[in-house]
Amino acid sequence: MRFRIGLDIGATKTKIIMITPEGKIVARAKIKTDSDKTAEPIVERASAAIENLVRQQGLTMTEIEAVAVGIAGFSNPRTGMIDVSPNLHWCNVPFKQLLADRIGKKVHMANDVNAAAWGEFTTGAGRGAQDIVAVFVGSGIGGGIVCNGLLVEGGTGTAGEVGHMTFRAGGLQCDCGRRGCFEAYAGGMPLERRMRQAAAAGKSPGLVKLVKGEIGKINTRTVRLAAEAGDPVAAKAWREAEEALITLSANLISLLNPDRLVIGGGVVEGNPGLFKLIKDKVPVRAVALSARHAQIVKSELGDDAVAIGAAALADLYRRDDLPGG
Ligand SMILES: [Zn+2]
Repeated sequence: MRFRIGLDIGATKTKIIMITPEGKIVARAKIKTDSDKTAEPIVERASAAIENLVRQQGLTMTEIEAVAVGIAGFSNPRTGMIDVSPNLHWCNVPFKQLLADRIGKKVHMANDVNAAAWGEFTTGAGRGAQDIVAVFVGSGIGGGIVCNGLLVEGGTGTAGEVGHMTFRAGGLQCDCGRRGCFEAYAGGMPLERRMRQAAAAGKSPGLVKLVKGEIGKINTRTVRLAAEAGDPVAAKAWREAEEALITLSANLISLLNPDRLVIGGGVVEGNPGLFKLIKDKVPVRAVALSARHAQIVKSELGDDAVAIGAAALADLYRRDDLPGG
């Protein structure tokens, strides 16, 4: 058996998961990332944790087929460079090479959301399909595309940034610096921030009442509840978020004609009606033949998607002709 190891490197924590070639989880570990501005501390800590995990399973590193990393930010699978990772404050870090040198194994690397989409494709809600699009609606909106069984990473590894496609030209300010992105309307963090500001300014009394004056408790769920209870400002914001997600999903189906559209993330999990709404409304908006073909399904891997998907990159990069191999 050749095992694979995937790392999900987040701003504060790094998750490590070991899987079988079939995608079954055999071991996991969690360590602090604690690697602000420089990559060397996490390279050392992750390598030690990987070696420890392998030893605990009674294995040696020769039985590990691949080690791979899913990381937030702009990482280029062709060069192995992390060009920019705003969460970690890294710039031009040759992370793939640093980890490969330390651990003595070939290392693969992908943007975290692309890795998550690949995880859903190989072992989650997309398994058995050939073409999928995954959309994750959490604090932001990320996406990943698998086309003809290959992960679409684009020329520099940043394909699939569906949250930063434009919903409304000249619309709400987005954290990416541009205006009108889907994420600005339906990303959990921007929506919460906007509604907290509205609540603090006295513009959304229904929402303030719902959270008993605790502005910090305003999240997408309480915004939705306030909308349902008739608060007009909350209702407008929530309707726009719904509209953005329906439009985004329909556009992706029209663009790519996928077998499945996989939808997940905290905003979808926390607001159960949202998934059904998207499923009901998308067929009206997308190209009819594509809408009839695409199954709309919920993601299955939850918080493990990035690490599992990274580990499964071995299946993608076994093909030496691919640029990230
Ligand atoms: Zn944006």
